[in-house]
Amino acid sequence: MNTEEKIAIFPKGDQGSADYFNGTAWVKILVPKDQTGNYSVGNVVFEPGCRNNWHTHATGQILLVTDGKGWYQEKGQAARSLVKGDVVVIPIDVVHWHGAAKDSSFTHIVITNNSPEGPVKWMYRVSDEDYNQLP
Ligand code: MN
Repeated sequence: MNTEEKIAIFPKGDQGSADYFNGTAWVKILVPKDQTGNYSVGNVVFEPGCRNNWHTHATGQILLVTDGKGWYQEKGQAARSLVKGDVVVIPIDVVHWHGAAKDSSFTHIVITNNSPEGPVKWMYRVSDEDYNQLP
């Protein structure tokens, strides 16, 4: 039993779409966008090796890491290793991906601002070649 299973804070939710995740991920919406704010809050659990596609957020996004080991990478930059307690502030319209390490699950809370164009624009997959270069 890994750490996430022993002390998971939030329910796992539903399996993330294969259109956006390469591997198995679980998405639980904790706070849907409503009239009290222009953001939504969710919990995402990535199984080992799973990552989301390259994407952008028209009004940015915040990641709060709560368990496991993972990665955040902006296009053209080195990938940043993430562990429990790390906070990532993702700027407007920066192409990036986030996901688990090869040998660990990874859990983060996402706070995503909405915009007239929606909260996220999905792009193409992170290739196995690029992902497998990570330690
Ligand atoms: Mn993102």
